[in-house]
Amino acid sequence: MRIVVKLGTSTLTGGTKRLQKAVMVELARQIQELRRAGHQVILVTSGAIAAGREKMAGMESQTRTSSSANAADPRKKDENLIDKQVLAALGQVYLMSVWQSLFEIHNTLVAQMLLTRADLEHRERFLNARDTLLGLLASNVVPIINENDAVATAEIKVGDNDNLSARVALLANADLLIMLTDQPGLMTADPARDPSATLLRELDTIDASMHAIAGGSVSGLGTGGMATKLQAAQIARQSAIEVVIAGAKQVDVLLKLVAGGGDGTRVRPLASRLESRKRWLLSGPQSQGRIELDLGAVEAVRVNKKSLLARGIVRSDGEFERGDAVRMVDLNGQSIGIGLVRYNSSELSLIVGHHSKDIQARLGYSVGGVVIHRDELIVFG
Ligand code: GLU
Repeated sequence: MRIVVKLGTSTLTGGTKRLQKAVMVELARQIQELRRAGHQVILVTSGAIAAGREKMAGMESQTRTSSSANAADPRKKDENLIDKQVLAALGQVYLMSVWQSLFEIHNTLVAQMLLTRADLEHRERFLNARDTLLGLLASNVVPIINENDAVATAEIKVGDNDNLSARVALLANADLLIMLTDQPGLMTADPARDPSATLLRELDTIDASMHAIAGGSVSGLGTGGMATKLQAAQIARQSAIEVVIAGAKQVDVLLKLVAGGGDGTRVRPLASRLESRKRWLLSGPQSQGRIELDLGAVEAVRVNKKSLLARGIVRSDGEFERGDAVRMVDLNGQSIGIGLVRYNSSELSLIVGHHSKDIQARLGYSVGGVVIHRDELIVFG
């Protein structure tokens, strides 16, 4: 399974002003265990701004006289956007250095991807981000993602890491999104006000009543709350991704949730994975493009579920851009399926029939031998 795990600031700091390494050690161990069992895990981590405050407060208290040191409250009430950007830039390296050292214990490499909404909405950038993310997973590296807070103004920001994690789950075509938080999940009422509130364990739909329960709830240190978690769950479930919102403090929480157990709110996906992928492919940018496959390529794609390589293509018709959905046909012109191309039509015309290793020489660059990846194509019939 491909799993996106989202950890909020309150989880990572345990509600304190510092990153709680004990919590992070434990989560890294569980992620490692999931990976050992054959799952792929992408981590969406908050905590950069909180980590920045921690570092800044540490520095200030070192330079201050001992009499005023205890006055240091790292959360300044009048922190503005620039302060937050500064703190994020400062804290992000610290946050990553902690994750890196924890995964290093398991001989595992981590990589950092800092994204903004603009990266996920601009098609070229979306595709680049996706290639990198999938490339990291293929290389057995744990991608660790946060919003690029240092450059992200309100206009280009996703704004909270709950929504970011849902978009990352879409980007990665994940099977499961786990959002860990300081609440046990979505409750029937605000437990702080109503002691009889109980956990909603299974949601088949997300409607106005749930948004009303979640209200504007915001946990102490991060940006999100239950409201943004529901928004995120809505985005993910519409793309057939299962979502669980759960309390981070349960023992072996990730292992239990992935095995289908544990406590939390499970949000059932709207459609099957295949249906959703078909819809996703078919709803993409329309193109009049058509590529003709030789017999071997038809068999590779249809029977062996392989990616389509340039050398299996006989010719291409019509104009299309990288990322467009293009029809695949056999030598008789019969439709085989549809898929997203990694080269545009003029590039493709120069490489059809050629071996993957010749692409670089023919184009002067290469994004690999795969013209349509098997994860991005559907075969008819
Ligand atoms: N990107 C922010 C951080 O790392 C957190 C955003 C959020 O809490 O949702 O500090």
